[in-house]
Amino acid sequence: MQEYDPEAPRTSTAAGPLIVPRPEHNISRANISEQALKVLYKLKQEGFAAHLVGGGVRDLLLGHEPKDFDVATDATPEQVRQVFRNCRLIGRRFRLAHVHFGREIIEVATFRAGGADDVDAERHVENGMILRDNVYGSIEEDALRRDFTINALYYNINDFSLIDYTGGINDLRNGQLRLIGDPTRRYREDPVRMLRAVRFACKLGFAVEPDSERPLFELGHLLGDIAAARLFDELIKLFHTGYGLETFEKLRHYGLFGYLFPATETCLAQEDHAFPITFVSRGLRTTDERIAQGKPVAPFFLYAVLLWEPVRQRYEQLLAKGTVDTDAMLQAADEVCARQQPLVSIPKRYSLPMREIWYLQLRLLQRDGKRPSRLIGHPRFRAAYDFLVLRAEAGEADPELADWWTRYQEADPANRTTMIEGSVKRKRPRRRRKPAAASPIAG
Ligand code: ATP
Ligand code: MG
Repeated sequence: MQEYDPEAPRTSTAAGPLIVPRPEHNISRANISEQALKVLYKLKQEGFAAHLVGGGVRDLLLGHEPKDFDVATDATPEQVRQVFRNCRLIGRRFRLAHVHFGREIIEVATFRAGGADDVDAERHVENGMILRDNVYGSIEEDALRRDFTINALYYNINDFSLIDYTGGINDLRNGQLRLIGDPTRRYREDPVRMLRAVRFACKLGFAVEPDSERPLFELGHLLGDIAAARLFDELIKLFHTGYGLETFEKLRHYGLFGYLFPATETCLAQEDHAFPITFVSRGLRTTDERIAQGKPVAPFFLYAVLLWEPVRQRYEQLLAKGTVDTDAMLQAADEVCARQQPLVSIPKRYSLPMREIWYLQLRLLQRDGKRPSRLIGHPRFRAAYDFLVLRAEAGEADPELADWWTRYQEADPANRTTMIEGSVKRKRPRRRRKPAAASPIAG
């Protein structure tokens, strides 16, 4: 064990872990959730080692409020289950114990060994990628198999000290994101770590250390090996945590975005189209703003934004071939979704409302008779309207149309009737801001 010297740079593990005693760090039990403390104390009482680890420790050290608290222990999942009545074992790839307290879940993981070389029944590796990993190990091995140094800090409930095997405290102090071990190998083991690098860089405002950064430009193709359902979950974490716009820009900077949304990337890369890029960016910025204001955000809206440009372009093509507008929209949506699903699978509960938003862009054009009053009662009207506003702001839909719907919602019933008459009398729609082929959705 080494003496803690706040000034001394530490990156090596050769001399054992760096231990920071309680008086020399800022993690206070007052900031740890009661439930996490209960789990830690109970494990300790039963004679097991119990530590807080991962994002909880990292965020507390940075003075942020942790999203959740993860516990690491030398008890096996079965032993954890015997200690807690309210416990469920989950996971195949990683076997974990979930201790339930109402809505709060404390994840308890047994120390695991890492490394993709030694293969046996509990660890399954293919082409350097770890598919199953349930080999238990020491706390040091557990630290070394984690992704980033700043995510491998342990808060020991025994004496409230911090344990650092990888130089994480130093990196935290320097605002650096550093992969533990050889970066290329660690990204190959689990390509999702590339997305996590981008996520933490944006969320924490950290710089990716150069050796950890370089492979990000080269290994994007490995994302194709990741299960499409896992990518969906990761993307929600990327785009729905308040830094979506910055994340999107960084993903494109590293060339990763194109492996996740190839059709969107193709559209964004086109020249002579200023607005597609601003549409996705605006959508993500709006989402970030909503999160900052504590408003709810919906995955279906996010995906409607991310995939709209390929849908719209395909729709225009089909329309030019003479397909009826509603059929063209449905077909365009089908085709884009069919190509996207194998990469990032969007669950039906999100893909259905996402498609409704697109389809409703056509119905928002119909301002005659009873249609507006009917449309406004549609469960997806508000999302479709927000979507239209975004399109108008990006210069892709008619701002007059978006403005009309804004006024229509605010108007009282008598004025709504007048508005409908007004809109019917005006035969020709106003010109779009941007010249483009005549198309119904362009308003
Ligand atoms: P967040 O604030 O988003 O929860 P987090 O760091 O806690 O960030 P989790 O996904 O909750 O992220 O993971 C908890 C911990 O498990 C991480 O801090 C890290 O130590 C480890 N971990 C998670 N995913 C991986 C991975 N793909 N490879 C290696 N270690 C990982
Ligand atoms: Mg976490």
